Amino acid sequence: MEKLYAGVIVDVRAEAVNRIFQYAIPERYRATIEIGHRVLVPFGRRKLEGYVVELTDELEVEKERLRSILKPLDPEPAILPSLVELARWMGETYAGLFSEALQYMLPPARRYGRERVGVKTAQLVTLLEPEPQLRKNAWVQRRVVEVLQARGGRLLAPELLALAETSTSTLRALAERGIIALEDVRVERKVEVEPLPDPQLVLTARQHEAVATILAELEGERRPVLLHGVTGSGKTEVYLQVIAEVLRRGRQAIVLVPEIALTPQMLGRFAARFPDRVTVLHSALSLGERFDQWCKIREGRVDVVIGARSAVFAPLPRLGLIILDEEHERTYKQEEGSIRYQTREVAIKRCQLTGGQVVLGSATPAVESYHRALQGQYILAELPERVESRPLPKIEVVDMREEFAQGNRSMFSRRLREELEDLVGTERQAIILLNRRGFANFVLCRECGEVLDCPNCQVSLTYHKGVNRLKCHYCLHQEVLPQKCPRCASRYLRQFGVGTEQLEETLAQEFPELKTLRLDADTTRRKGAHSAILRQFAQGQAQVLIGTQMVAKGLDFPQVTLVGVLAADLSLRFPDIRSSERTFQLLTQVAGRSGRGELPGLVIVQAYEPGHFAIEAARSHDYLGFYRKEIGFRRALGYPPFRQLTRILCSGPQTEAEEACRRIAAHLLARGIPQVDLVGPFPAPIGRIQGRYRWQVLVKSDGPLQGLGELPSAGGDVQVTVDLDPLYML
Ligand code: ADP
Ligand code: ZN
Ligand code: ZN
Repeated sequence: MEKLYAGVIVDVRAEAVNRIFQYAIPERYRATIEIGHRVLVPFGRRKLEGYVVELTDELEVEKERLRSILKPLDPEPAILPSLVELARWMGETYAGLFSEALQYMLPPARRYGRERVGVKTAQLVTLLEPEPQLRKNAWVQRRVVEVLQARGGRLLAPELLALAETSTSTLRALAERGIIALEDVRVERKVEVEPLPDPQLVLTARQHEAVATILAELEGERRPVLLHGVTGSGKTEVYLQVIAEVLRRGRQAIVLVPEIALTPQMLGRFAARFPDRVTVLHSALSLGERFDQWCKIREGRVDVVIGARSAVFAPLPRLGLIILDEEHERTYKQEEGSIRYQTREVAIKRCQLTGGQVVLGSATPAVESYHRALQGQYILAELPERVESRPLPKIEVVDMREEFAQGNRSMFSRRLREELEDLVGTERQAIILLNRRGFANFVLCRECGEVLDCPNCQVSLTYHKGVNRLKCHYCLHQEVLPQKCPRCASRYLRQFGVGTEQLEETLAQEFPELKTLRLDADTTRRKGAHSAILRQFAQGQAQVLIGTQMVAKGLDFPQVTLVGVLAADLSLRFPDIRSSERTFQLLTQVAGRSGRGELPGLVIVQAYEPGHFAIEAARSHDYLGFYRKEIGFRRALGYPPFRQLTRILCSGPQTEAEEACRRIAAHLLARGIPQVDLVGPFPAPIGRIQGRYRWQVLVKSDGPLQGLGELPSAGGDVQVTVDLDPLYML
């Protein structure tokens, strides 16, 4: 095929231009222009940037209307061809803009033509004369020369100036005399990954089998493999061995982790196993650091990329494997912008396009994933035991209403307190998780479990100690703390959810002997703080690690024998079809942090609804039992994986939002698609945020919902968001 015409997506965020425009490729650029090239094109009376997404020799527009590409904007294509295809698929699948999907494929900090960061340059100073003649009193110049001599005659200016304690004017003077040369060079913002000791492990029989299953698939049909391994079963070692094999074949790997919280330990192990071949991409890096890592990846200078969600787009040119560790985690769902993708699906699509293998690992697979594995869409590999036959920890569930009835007013149950006392004076460690997902300092009735809600927004009110008031974080509502519970009139209304901070204080009061560390959003804000806290805990500088969900996953500390969970079941109150699943996963994951070394583990779970099946199944380490119950509910209610759920949310001024939502619903009904049911339109559970009213319609369909791109336009100030398989319904 001759490259005569190019299909171009213009780099503009607008529904109106969300289609491919054809341009002629001038003769002189036919050899250079490729798919993924950034180009300048005439558009109406303007010039716009765009990306080449198709090349063809067939003219598709009227000859008179055909215009030509003005020029390519970079020597090399900006985007790999397989990633252009992936973007096209994302735009179609998630009913978003092709141009927006392409932004994910670009270097960090470049969005819609705006470049906030680029390569970093610095002045390189080279000594031209090894023994230059300097005036006697030119002390400063001499110092510069001496530093250069000591450093082999070459140094970057900033370092040289610091060592010689002088300024650029000295360098200019020396350069003018021909003693040194100055040139601008590119410097890389390095991201150091500290290797951890890497024990050369002999695979257990189970691990061996899992590796074999994955490699067989990699050589065969390349169906995704679901690695279902209980906590502490050695999934990481399986990943490492599979990656080693992929690298031996000259291909490359991406390892996705749900949160930066998981990376320090895992990164260390990977860095040790594959020296100089591993890099990391995540939002805790500066933009410049991310940019340089991205370039390194694009240039093929690293082979293993570890990162959070968006690393699925890392431009490895020879990609052969994508691993999603803790594949069930909700952070794998993109929740912003017009393209709300599910990383698992993107990874699978990307591997289809590049001939790669996907491995999904988890101790608590998403119900959808396990269902697909049972259906044969995925291949199941299982690690049902911990390595070295270590037992799974024993889990005890404490009913906190009972504790209260028996006069225990503290936030710790008697059992947890006993176990904490037992810890004093030993080398053993504990983790305490405060489950407060979506809840911050809300007020709970200790007798009946009632939570005080905002009358306007249906979310729990937040207690502000300083002013002794309850406030809604979604609207302006505030009120004084009532004396009695509005439901049962009990006087034991307590600010619950407390913060981890308060938990830390209480612990310090009750157990002054136990040194604590705290891991939450507040203590990890500073760069590097997160890994520093984990390092201190690993070194035994504290006996108790307190934290939010951050402490639940991935951590591997052999000295941890006790895990306490406070308010284990509050996540069950979330208005969400996955709240049971999340509660089960959270409990299983955090329990899995205990007893990973030689010593056996114990978990104490404090709950207000201890009989719930999710808690029951977690207590008995019964994933399958949980799955069977949950899949039954999903089938009965027509929820995923049986039917697809799409949420269409309209937000804006009251009547407009409602009308737009009704119009969209009517449009979907009028199309008369038989396998589609609508729930709503109705106001979203959080009916109003910052003065904007929110209406939604839930669409249940058998298979993907077609034609989402042709919804009637909302008009006015109404914003429409289409969310496929939404994780949140709020
Ligand atoms: P998971 O990710 O499945 O929870 P990890 O991969 O963190 O489990 O492994 C748990 C622990 O078992 C780690 O300390 C790891 O070093 C150890 N381990 C893994 N595989 C083996 C093995 N084959 N022999 C001995 N120890 C192992
Ligand atoms: Zn009450
Ligand atoms: Zn409110």
